[in-house]
Amino acid sequence: MKITIDKNSGFCFGVVRAIEVAEQNLQKDNQLYCLGDIVHNNEEVSRLHNMGLKIVSHREFAQLHNVKVLIRAHGEPPETYRIAKENNIELIDATCIVVLKLQEDIKKNNEDGNFREGQILIFGKAGHAEVIGLLGQTNGKGIVISSVNDIDVIDYTKPAKLYSQTTQSLEEYQTIIETVRRRYDEKGNGHLFQSYDTICRRVANRAKQVQKFAAQYDKIIFVSGEKSSNGLYLFDVCKKENPQSYFVYRSEQLEEIPFKKDDNIGICGATSTPMWLMESIAEKIKKIIT
Ligand code: SF4
Repeated sequence: MKITIDKNSGFCFGVVRAIEVAEQNLQKDNQLYCLGDIVHNNEEVSRLHNMGLKIVSHREFAQLHNVKVLIRAHGEPPETYRIAKENNIELIDATCIVVLKLQEDIKKNNEDGNFREGQILIFGKAGHAEVIGLLGQTNGKGIVISSVNDIDVIDYTKPAKLYSQTTQSLEEYQTIIETVRRRYDEKGNGHLFQSYDTICRRVANRAKQVQKFAAQYDKIIFVSGEKSSNGLYLFDVCKKENPQSYFVYRSEQLEEIPFKKDDNIGICGATSTPMWLMESIAEKIKKIIT
């Protein structure tokens, strides 16, 4: 049996920064609130919880006063900043710079006087924190496109600007761009449509790396939180390349995997999977097999 951990797996720089900011504040104050899960990984959330990080929902956040609250890498809509001001909450803003730039671009284009009648289209997962933050920049003009099946909601007689949540699939986004453009062209309105390449390359490049990695092993153990959209997407890439790929979000799930003594096993994960967790999964697999 041989186990290899993918050296390209592990946190992206946006998540690394949010965790570092949390740790620095916790070392000073022993307690910090965080709006939503700091990372879509229960093990890492629980490690930070033990250091004093308290995760609060948006409802709970609105009840807080005179405290410090961390904004995670996904970012927040303007409403959150308004509540913080009203409640004298000090925001520690760890919004990833890539997401921040996207929020600013959407806001700027949305406020463009020539785009009053326009539609802001966001390819992403409805209800995802980043998407909520992006929609917040559009004054209600935003429309979420979850898949190519949603494009009938677009009014092809009006201008539209299409953006993507940073962690979406590049291929799916390209399909949506092409299909929407074709519809505009069919109506002779091609000039009304504009799309922007806003997928984070940390994620887009990961797909190719993970696909290459998955092809090299008998079994792939993909470690990720259940709620990570990046994790679900990358696991799908693994599974297509190597049908012997297993999604593991709890170490107990390892017991159900039919490991063989001579298996060559690859361990990889999402951009929200900590390296220490993949190392501990490797140790557990060794114990199960031996
Ligand atoms: S995936 Fe990219 S955009 Fe999202 S937090 Fe990580 S670095 Fe930032």
